[in-house]
Order: sequence, then structure tokens, then C-alpha cells
Amino acid sequence: MSIPDRPFASYHLWSLVAPATGQERWHCQMRRGFVKARQHEPKVKALLATATAPQRIGILAQKGVYEFHHHRHLLSQTDGVEKVAQLLKLSHSSEEVQQRVLQILTKYHNEPLLLNKRIIQLTPGDEGFPKPILIDQDDYCFRLYAAMDCVFIDSDRTLHILDFKTGKAAFDQRQALVYLLAARYLYPEQEAVASFYNLELCKKSDLIHITHQELLSLEFELAHIARKHQQDLQKYHQQTQDFSKIFPPNPGSHCRYCPFRSICDFADNPKLKSQSMPILRVNG
Ligand code: SF4
Repeated sequence: MSIPDRPFASYHLWSLVAPATGQERWHCQMRRGFVKARQHEPKVKALLATATAPQRIGILAQKGVYEFHHHRHLLSQTDGVEKVAQLLKLSHSSEEVQQRVLQILTKYHNEPLLLNKRIIQLTPGDEGFPKPILIDQDDYCFRLYAAMDCVFIDSDRTLHILDFKTGKAAFDQRQALVYLLAARYLYPEQEAVASFYNLELCKKSDLIHITHQELLSLEFELAHIARKHQQDLQKYHQQTQDFSKIFPPNPGSHCRYCPFRSICDFADNPKLKSQSMPILRVNG
């Protein structure tokens, strides 16, 4: 098994390294170990490939928005929702997924957020890893991955990065910050803002801005996360039996929602909790 030759960072890695505000009790470093160190093992790979109903709803909702704008006439056709549902092969999904995605498509058809926007990027959401951005400074060097759902130009010419959400989870501002950092490299001439839009609740977040100084410190923090994770991977590949020391478990009732529960030796058992279970904090 090979270790990536250069450290990398992404919002996903950040969320696996450090919990979102209010999620500290449930944060488990061992999940990062399964996702980022043992992902090629057949059992882990199989678990990672199995999308849960909420994940499927998110993927299909994003693809639905993409199809509406890829076939613009469907937004004004009365049977537009049915046509997009066919393009998504929605009938192959479970009843729950079908119902919720149909509701999302109907809401979007009634109120298409991106109608008349100057869209410069809209992804179907199933295209895999984005091309990395190389961040190469005097003190650090890492690859940044930022998969943006949608980028458009606002009426005041600001570049607007929009992330679509489904379900009830709170927006995690860190994701928007990573996009704004990526935009600094991809669109260096443009002022940029980011926001979230929940397609099920039709709820917009506030616009998220970041100053130049904040971008610099964010970049530094991500470099730290990338380096720390790279070191953990190296330690793990040298001593695979130290998995639970390098990626300490934090078992508890939240294990029942963990995709690795069936293969985790620590699942549901607080007595097996590691003696030292550091929660890595970023930004203090
Ligand atoms: S089952 Fe529990 S202890 Fe194991 S990785 Fe998942 S959350 Fe962590």
C-alpha cells in the first residue's frame, strides 16, 4: 500500500481530523483511520462503497439540479420533474429515496435557485475526486482538494460558490472556507463569497466572506492538518498493529451510525475506549 507522496488537505479530511462545533463528544479519530488509511482493504472498501439512504438522496438531488440546468427546457415543462426522475433512474432506488428526491425535484422545479444565474460550473456530483490545487509556500506544500457543487457570478460580479445540502444537518462553515481558499487559487482576480442551500428545506445560509488575513491563517491550518495526517499515515504503514494508537477510537452510542461498526473492535464499548483520546483542535 502506498502513502500519498505529498500531504493533502480537503474539507473532508478536516472534518475527520477535528469535530464541528457541538460534535466533540461523538468525534472518533478511528473513523479517519478507516477512511484514509485502510480504505483499500476489501471489507473497508465494501463499506465505503455502500451509500446510505441520506447519502443517496444527496447525490441524486445534486444530479437532479444538474439535469434541470443541462436540459433547461425541463424547468418550464409541466412534466419536467418526471423527466428528470427518469434521467436519474429514480425508480431503481428505495421507496424512501424516491419520495424524498421527488419532493426535492418538485421544489426545485417550482423555485429554481439558479435560474438566470451566470453559471460557470455546475457538477453532477458523481464525478469523483476533483483536480488538486498545489499550494506551495516557503514553509509548507500540500495539495488541496475542493469539490465545488456550483460556481456562478452574482449580479455585482462577485464569484459565488454554492454548496447544495439535503437532510437536517447544520451547515459546517469550514466547508465554505475551504472553497474560498480554493477560489483564491482558481479565480485569483475575483472577489468570492460562498453559501449553502438546503434543497429539501429551501433554506439559504448567510453569505460567507473571508479576509485576506483569514485566508492566510486558514491555509496555514490546513497545511498543519495535511502534515499531521501524512505523519499518521506514515506511522500506520510502519506499524499497522498500532492502528488504534494512531487513530484512537471514541466508542459510544454514536457507533450505531458509524459505517465501520461491523468491523470495528471498539464499537459500542466505552470500556475499550483508548486511555488517551485526543481531540485535535484546529483554530484554538
Ligand atoms: S464503531 Fe465507534 S469506535 Fe469504531 S470507528 Fe466507528 S465511531 Fe469509532
